[in-house]
Amino acid sequence: MTLPTEQYSCIHRVCVCVQSCHATKPGMLNVHLVPHTHDDVGWLKTVDQYFYGDRNDIQHAGVQYILDSVVDQLWKNPDRRFIYVETAFFYHWWKSQSSSMQQTVKQLVNEGRLEFVNGGWCMSDEAATHYSAVIDQMTIGLRFLNETFGACGRPRVAWHIDPFGHAREHASMFAQMGFDGFFFGRLDYQDRARRMRNKEQELLWRASDSLTPPMADLFTGMQSFFLHPFMLMTSGLSNRTVSHYFLTACPR
Ligand SMILES: [Zn+2]
Repeated sequence: MTLPTEQYSCIHRVCVCVQSCHATKPGMLNVHLVPHTHDDVGWLKTVDQYFYGDRNDIQHAGVQYILDSVVDQLWKNPDRRFIYVETAFFYHWWKSQSSSMQQTVKQLVNEGRLEFVNGGWCMSDEAATHYSAVIDQMTIGLRFLNETFGACGRPRVAWHIDPFGHAREHASMFAQMGFDGFFFGRLDYQDRARRMRNKEQELLWRASDSLTPPMADLFTGMQSFFLHPFMLMTSGLSNRTVSHYFLTACPR
């Protein structure tokens, strides 16, 4: 599908979709809350059990219904926005949709109403995973999004809200993959307490000693756990971080 040129811009052959955002009021604190997914690609249930909603006695989760209902609700109201994360599930869902539904979803993506973040096949573990596997699974997910949606499907923020701890090498890889920023959940409670005191929950992560800056520099924000609305309100995040990560679709 060829987009009209006003829908994307390219710098050094990297194309970024120009997406529509709600108007903000100057001189006011403008807060945008965008719902997102966190769908484990296998945890308490198998991947297929999660997708189809089987064995809900183990965990109540059926990813296909999330995508069905989200697309339906986005289509009904152009004011709505949604962020989808896990390409493994999205790919599974996409393959079973009609061509007219696929066109509908492409329009939602092109208009910035449905946005992808991270975009890997899954959300990598950062402790035990060899870097080659991380690159492979990110490649599979991002390649699918690129081939399916082009510039408007390109995730601009790396999103790791559930791995247990975060490795510098992971941030380095994300920086080298071209992400604009990185947002993660879960950090050590003492580290978080110190960062909250010192207002250091956002930083420019220099993620490599050996690569010449800014090759592995990555703007990073963090949260102690998932982005539950109550946790967001009590997180101490600055407006800049909130707007950066919840308005990734918006030009500043
Ligand atoms: Zn999880």
